[in-house]
Amino acid sequence: MISAEHGAARNSFNVCIHRGTQQIGGTCIELSCQGERILLDLGLPLDADETDPVTLLPPISGLHSPDPSLLALVLSHGHADHWGLAPHAGTALPIVMGAATRRILRAAAAFVPRAVPLGTESEGTPDLEDRKTIHLGPFAITPFLVDHSAFDAYALLIEANGRRLFYSGDIRAHGRKAALFERLVSNPPRPVHTLLMEGSSLGRLGPGQLFPTEGEIEKRLVERFRPAGFVGICASAQNIDRVVSIYRACKRTGRTLVLDLYALEVLAATGNPNIPQAGWPNLAVYVPEYQRRHIKRTERFDIVDRYKPHRIYREALGKLAARAVMLFRPAMLNDIDLLPGAWLGAQVIWSQWDGYLPSPANQAFQAKLAERGVTLEVIHTSGHASIVDLKRLAEAMAPDVLVPVHTFEGDRFSEIFGMNVCRRLDGEWWEV
Ligand SMILES: [Zn+2]
Ligand SMILES: [Zn+2]
Repeated sequence: MISAEHGAARNSFNVCIHRGTQQIGGTCIELSCQGERILLDLGLPLDADETDPVTLLPPISGLHSPDPSLLALVLSHGHADHWGLAPHAGTALPIVMGAATRRILRAAAAFVPRAVPLGTESEGTPDLEDRKTIHLGPFAITPFLVDHSAFDAYALLIEANGRRLFYSGDIRAHGRKAALFERLVSNPPRPVHTLLMEGSSLGRLGPGQLFPTEGEIEKRLVERFRPAGFVGICASAQNIDRVVSIYRACKRTGRTLVLDLYALEVLAATGNPNIPQAGWPNLAVYVPEYQRRHIKRTERFDIVDRYKPHRIYREALGKLAARAVMLFRPAMLNDIDLLPGAWLGAQVIWSQWDGYLPSPANQAFQAKLAERGVTLEVIHTSGHASIVDLKRLAEAMAPDVLVPVHTFEGDRFSEIFGMNVCRRLDGEWWEV
């Protein structure tokens, strides 16, 4: 391996993508300038299931034992494929992220069994804020709030030693914050010497195909919510755009959205008063049995207390069931089993990536639904830009060099984007 400082010319800085040139997930990028370093993301690979996460840490000085030249880890957003290895680092590395991301991760951790705390309490580290430049050693970092299925997600412009690298993070143009994408491509922060751009949709979508917009998802949900009968909808509570779509579809069809404590805590952690919360019309709080036990075990009664005035219990849920939409997880099957007749005419909608469906746990879930006479229908749109939109982004940035990241199909970048693409390898050091 070439060392971080090998060949560093004046007017340049060095980059190593430790993971991400050949895969989606597990992203980790190290930047080095004048002997100081930062990391962009430190994700858990998607295929990491049974592996000991510590063994997956990239060979970066400062992760296993302290090294003051590693200044900080900067997280583009709160998806585990971008931060999931961070809690397994053996050192107290300062972690920079959006303030809402920090609050959401902290809120979610209360519900994860054996959660490894992520330095969510980091003091003295700046937060990422849209278009507010922060400085870490020789690096000037300007975050750009982007449209993605995670709330508070950023693309990052990094400037050091007179050179500029733009990292797209995970990005799309068809969600509820599509205007952010339009703003970025109509006023790009040029010059960009190197563009590190994600390519998740390559291999999932044809070159001219588009993903449905979040607004189209809302319309489809409205159609499904019209007929009476219980609806369970499997969506990530951290996909705030989707929760908003579900809530709006409930309002338009006179249904009540039933949320559990985890979802409510995540929604509240956004700090955004325009996002559904307890006390709103067409919204009820129900604590499923497994969650009630978890709260008891962890003694987080403060969380239950917060939602007491809005909480409904089994009997009320039974009466409401035919007009309810419940943000659903397989562990909630038993709660519905206890409501007489609730499965009659019921629908369950899978509103997240269908790539999760073949897992043994989700196969078992579908089998249990089938026993109850319910089939699973997928209504979802991607958190990632279509190829058409990626092209618009690349053309707007007009980089000297385009480097593929967060993709299984980096080899197709030059054919698709028709610009100076430089394919890098995981672990290879190169110059911006
Ligand atoms: Zn990702
Ligand atoms: Zn993501």
